[in-house]
Amino acid sequence: MVYKGTVLSPGIAIGKAYLLKRAVQKVHRRSILPNEVKNELARFRKAVDDTRKEMLLVEDQVKKALSSKKSGIFAGYRLFLEDKMLINETETLIKDQRVNAEFAFSMQLNKIISEFKKIKNDYLKERARDVSELGRRVMSNLMDIDDKVLWEDIPPDSVLVAYNITPADTTHMKSNSIRAFVTDTGGKTSHTAIVARALEIPAVSALKNFSAIAEAGQDIIVDGENGIVITDPDEETVMNYKRERKRYQDEQHSLQKLMDMPAASSDGTVFGMEANIEIAEEIGTALAHGAEGIGLYRSEYMFINSETPPGEEEQHAQYKTVCEKMLPYPVIIRTIDLGADKLADAVKLPPEQNPMMGLRSIRLCFRMPELFKTQIRALLRASAAGNLKIMIPMITNASEMKKVKIIIGEVKRDLAKEGLPFNDRIQVGAMIEVPAAAVAADLIAEEADFLSIGTNDLIQYTFAADRMNENVDYVYDQGNPAIMRIIKYVIEAAHNKQKPVSLCGEMASDPAFTKILMGLGLDTFSMSAIAIPKIKKIIRTTSVREAKEFAAKFVAGSCSQ
Ligand code: PEP
Ligand code: MG
Repeated sequence: MVYKGTVLSPGIAIGKAYLLKRAVQKVHRRSILPNEVKNELARFRKAVDDTRKEMLLVEDQVKKALSSKKSGIFAGYRLFLEDKMLINETETLIKDQRVNAEFAFSMQLNKIISEFKKIKNDYLKERARDVSELGRRVMSNLMDIDDKVLWEDIPPDSVLVAYNITPADTTHMKSNSIRAFVTDTGGKTSHTAIVARALEIPAVSALKNFSAIAEAGQDIIVDGENGIVITDPDEETVMNYKRERKRYQDEQHSLQKLMDMPAASSDGTVFGMEANIEIAEEIGTALAHGAEGIGLYRSEYMFINSETPPGEEEQHAQYKTVCEKMLPYPVIIRTIDLGADKLADAVKLPPEQNPMMGLRSIRLCFRMPELFKTQIRALLRASAAGNLKIMIPMITNASEMKKVKIIIGEVKRDLAKEGLPFNDRIQVGAMIEVPAAAVAADLIAEEADFLSIGTNDLIQYTFAADRMNENVDYVYDQGNPAIMRIIKYVIEAAHNKQKPVSLCGEMASDPAFTKILMGLGLDTFSMSAIAIPKIKKIIRTTSVREAKEFAAKFVAGSCSQ
């Protein structure tokens, strides 16, 4: 049988299915007497405390497994264990409704998870899974269920099949020679996926009820290139996949060799290779894949993940750490791009008819000057510690850039008066993701130190097709000549003003567009780190001369992707 799912981590594995089953946690409501409340609260607090200790151990294991590359991704778990909504509200339910701790906790947990699930943002949806994994652990401690996996008992070379795999499980896999895993749940931005990619364990998810269908010991192929899982494959399929696995391994080997080589075309033009990150902890992966800078740090994720806006000190510490870790490479931090699909409890937005075209990104920052100035202060202060550049999202016209520079100038004067150090010559760039900005790119380039094309939004606004609405997917056409012409125009307009151009939308990581973008004269590609080696390889085997001819056909519309 062939099943189609989502790629969590690339690679190809062939092995025997091992079904990882966890104990079912059935929760019953039990009324308690007033004199039992104290004991119930104590039981609950102990379970939370035990879970906190367990999580510290897990964090330690992950750090060791990843050689401290991603040490911070568990901070979120710990925060949930201190979360008022989860902990205090459960205690209130125990006290007020006089119910057992298991029932109160599961009620509160389900409430939070369903709130998370309503959010239209993949990264935050994944946090629902984090909360539910934590909940499972607290519940196991409360109910005294021992559902620890006995890793030594799993035959080596197995393919693990489970409803859900935790990041901690993933760290055990490498040392236990587990070849791959398949889950019913989980997305690309889950911590499990991040750890699996860092450890290079192939994984595919979202096979709905696969863990219920799969049989222990059956032959299984995990194709982490195409998100495919095959059970009981015939001999020919196994042979084909063995060949494919060899090809993949050889390719990885040769890509690894490219790590320290420049992204230079066969006729000698060097392109910038930078990484996009959402959280500071991704720096390790970025460096491990040969990123020579951060081309887009989506700073809004710091806001999305907290109840109140992070203050100047908290932001400064984060930005400084990222810059220091990336030295001597540049770090482009984008000011908050909140609004539309990226919502944060920390920043209250007015209800709007059409938020995609409403008060979002820089527009919101102009409306909330204190919020913006706090971020600019934190960024400027961090610029003293590294090679930091500021990037402004959703710029629509040149006057907005002028206004941004006036605000930055004001903040600089304040910092100077206070005697705080910053880089007075800090570069400030504009994202080109609104068609009007693209058409007036020459005017914006005059006001900006660099431009970065955000194709994800640029395409949706050019075609008036919501990037998240599958009903209009067919209109959201990346390779359309309209987009090719816009990109060409923006690059030329910026170059005429001697300003560099990068591209940080998903198109930068799509091998189908590498040659075209080279031919259009792009300076820097910025993408999710894992895609860097693949794109670099294409660049190194292509000449700019041939890329130009190739790109011209797409601009003319005589070829399409
Ligand atoms: C883009 O729009 O291309 C972009 C990089 O920004 P985001 O995906 O964060 O909107
Ligand atoms: Mg965008």
